[in-house]
Amino acid sequence: MIKRVEINYRGIFQKSLAKKIGSDIVIIASRMGRVGMSNGRYSDAPERNGIPCKYFAFITHDLAEEELEAEAGAKLDIDECDLSVVLDDTMCKGVEPWGWHGIRPINEKVSNGSTLLVVSKHDHAELLDFVGSKTFDWKLATYDGEPSLAGLWVNKDDLTHERTLGAIAAADPDIIGIEAVEKYLNEKNPKEPHRAQAARKAYDEVLEKTKAIKPGMGVKWQHQVPVLPKWKEFNEGSAVPAVKRGFKLGPLGQQRNPQFQRGTTKTQRPVVRFDLCTKCTLCWLECPDECFDPTDDGLYDIAYSYCVGCGKCADICPVKECIVMVDELQFENDASPWTAYKKDRGAYADWAEKKKSKGRYIHPYITGRGLEYVKGEVVPLDGKRGSSRR
Ligand code: SF4
Ligand code: SF4
Repeated sequence: MIKRVEINYRGIFQKSLAKKIGSDIVIIASRMGRVGMSNGRYSDAPERNGIPCKYFAFITHDLAEEELEAEAGAKLDIDECDLSVVLDDTMCKGVEPWGWHGIRPINEKVSNGSTLLVVSKHDHAELLDFVGSKTFDWKLATYDGEPSLAGLWVNKDDLTHERTLGAIAAADPDIIGIEAVEKYLNEKNPKEPHRAQAARKAYDEVLEKTKAIKPGMGVKWQHQVPVLPKWKEFNEGSAVPAVKRGFKLGPLGQQRNPQFQRGTTKTQRPVVRFDLCTKCTLCWLECPDECFDPTDDGLYDIAYSYCVGCGKCADICPVKECIVMVDELQFENDASPWTAYKKDRGAYADWAEKKKSKGRYIHPYITGRGLEYVKGEVVPLDGKRGSSRR
């Protein structure tokens, strides 16, 4: 028997965290007399900010090390898993962890009766608004927390690592057991009992917050899987067609590459209060992915399917409360916000404030701290345009 665990994380902000979890699963299982191995593979650069990546851990109770390696070590991806861990709940909207595989449901590899384990502040029903449906029974388990995003190659020490180990022990004790998790953490950190306590707390939480999901629950998956050419179909001197040049004012008016939409790499999206905008052009000039589309009234619409959620526009906008970064799981689609604003300014401002008040983030200027969740100020329609400079 082999227990297969995949750890879905966002490169590069969660790479160190996912690696620590993968290797600790193996060490803890080994101390329980089990055999394990961990690895991480990707066909896309994990350094690309926000890109969904995976680490794996394989645990067996009855195979020798070489046999486990032979069974689990020579594949790019797993066919199915017993446990899928999700370190950023916005990946429930879909992930493209391998180049050219298309946007896939986060639970694609979850097998019959297995568990999708998500660190999230959202409840099961809210997550199921995005997760793909299956034809068999599976389980959805959650434990409370924000996506633990750190700076480059840094682990943010906010106990997500310890809590995830405890959560895994609750989701499937055949992988690791909670007593072994506590013993390991206490031995490693003799003066820091709060680490093992955090693992136990997450363990209890997952036992309480595991829900059986029936066939058909979740959403019907809309993203298409790309059909790649077979090797026989390649010709000598093949050329990749260039993106057609074009520009017109209005939503999606700037021509972009339809094959390279990076929208699923974001954890937050910018919400714009167009009524506060002074048309200074800075967001349009500074967005590294050229996501702002000029409109005929001098405002700038956002192409969310291309936005990577870097937060630069929110940082650079000189008007207080005009651009705010908000939890991506609050949005059902990538529709043009400017079109909604033009339709009904008041309704749009109310909608924007509601979204902002529920899950706004800031990026502190200290590497390794990651995101901070802050309370904001509600500004009425056409309210005072204060300066956002801190
Ligand atoms: S967050 Fe703003 S600056 Fe960053 S990619 Fe999205 S629209 Fe552009
Ligand atoms: S940076 Fe802010 S004020 Fe300037 S154009 Fe963009 S949204 Fe408007």
